[in-house]
Amino acid sequence: MHDEAAGEVLIAGGGPAGAALAMLLHRAGRRVTLVGRARDYRAIEGASRRSLQALAGLGLHRAAACAVGPLPRRVTWGGEARTPNAEWLLPRPAFDAALLADLREAGIQVIEARITALASNGDRARLTLADGRVFSAPWGVEARGRATARRHFRDAAPWSTPAWILRGAAPNLTPDSTPASAALSLPGGGWAWWSRLSGQQYLQLALPEATLGQARRTPDAWLAAQPELAKLWGDAPIQHHYQRPSLLGRTRVREGRLWRLGDAAMAIDPLSGQGIFNALSSAHGLAPVLNSLLEGQPIAPLERFHQRRQDAQYWRFARAGRDFYRQAAYHAAMSGEPLSYWMARCHWPDHQPLHRPEPWECVRVARGLAIVGTRLAKRELVMTPDQPLGIQAVAGTPLAPLVRAMQAGDQDAAQALLIAAGPAAAGVIRWWADHPDWPTLPSVSSVAFTPSTDSASQ
Ligand SMILES: Cc1cc2nc3c(=O)[nH]c(=O)nc-3n(C[C@H](O)[C@H](O)[C@H](O)COP(=O)(O)OP(=O)(O)OC[C@H]3O[C@@H](n4cnc5c(N)ncnc54)[C@H](O)[C@@H]3O)c2cc1C
Repeated sequence: MHDEAAGEVLIAGGGPAGAALAMLLHRAGRRVTLVGRARDYRAIEGASRRSLQALAGLGLHRAAACAVGPLPRRVTWGGEARTPNAEWLLPRPAFDAALLADLREAGIQVIEARITALASNGDRARLTLADGRVFSAPWGVEARGRATARRHFRDAAPWSTPAWILRGAAPNLTPDSTPASAALSLPGGGWAWWSRLSGQQYLQLALPEATLGQARRTPDAWLAAQPELAKLWGDAPIQHHYQRPSLLGRTRVREGRLWRLGDAAMAIDPLSGQGIFNALSSAHGLAPVLNSLLEGQPIAPLERFHQRRQDAQYWRFARAGRDFYRQAAYHAAMSGEPLSYWMARCHWPDHQPLHRPEPWECVRVARGLAIVGTRLAKRELVMTPDQPLGIQAVAGTPLAPLVRAMQAGDQDAAQALLIAAGPAAAGVIRWWADHPDWPTLPSVSSVAFTPSTDSASQ
């Protein structure tokens, strides 16, 4: 049987990572085919405001519209109760179907089918479907999620907690039937994320291995014995429970003609609640790499750029998770609760701080690859110990000229740059103020301050 041609890029997997990449490449004028099928289990996941903004920015409007919220993100962790921000609930089957509908509406070729093989074959990527059809393209992308990539993982966490998921009907009482969610650390070790949506409730648990075995044998009794969780769940019976692997790890971003994306490239701790955002952001990293490659740029620097970005992200998520586990360990030690679950997670990946100090004398400007529109190009970047890959712009304003002016002590030049930045200068000034030991920027009286956003870009 002959291969069917699938354009320039063939994407396997239509979750958020694959869908975002398909949209970005399509918008850049590339011929893309996406092959995937909806996930075969029902789950609710939490999404942040920036994930929804990213979906809308990509034109994945039906998918973004599946989100229910904002709901207050209630967290009780290590004895401390907080509502740090808002979250939205995403019913995954509807969300995944909407992603594919958005792609079709945009005119992207979508094939809904089960993939049985994806391989790099000479100078093409080849994908085989369960019905025997074979597609090929110059480049392929593996975006089928963490289960597919497991055997390629490197630097995996030395511990792994399978996710145990309980589903049931939500007690049909107002206001108890309104959408809601809560995250909490558990006194015996482990954590839970509970959500309620459309008459259903969903409890995702990470438990110590010994507890998990016993809990799975008698789920109702186990749940009833957890005061906080039992309060959230109410007296509804558990209708269904299942286990999902959730190994953490990262892979090489490319093997032959295949690139890896989203969870298939880097699976982070579900504790972070950032998996969807990470999937979308990794697509924003890979799209300009593929565009540049298809325009004829040499592969080695592109691959290096993408690998370094992905690795930096992986270690940052790992250290952020470690710090949460440390907080819970400290609380458990103070309250005389079991420590072993937390202690096992306190030392990976290392003992480096989440953020490194950025003294002014260590800030330098150098040329490096950066995302410029739909491709990669050399630009002046600002490198700091915390941002070794370099920052190109803050709030859309190139940072290197400002740093150069301040390093030269040229206040007039710095002021002129800030004035030229217009309203975006407020974002630059705010970002700069987060570095209290850096020299003070000249004042710009015309700058209007607006609420803060996450504004540094590489
Ligand atoms: C227990 C658990 C809870 C989580 N909770 C959250 C949360 O609350 N918030 C959050 O942001 N993230 C959460 N995550 C992470 C989040 O699910 C992922 O990070 C995110 O979905 C990754 O997107 P992706 O596109 O890379 O992969 P996926 O979303 O896994 O998409 C892969 C796609 O490929 C398809 N596919 C797989 N195999 C085949 C095949 N053989 N043929 C055809 N298609 C195939 C799948 O059906 C799916 O559509 C959680 C993860 C776990 C394990």
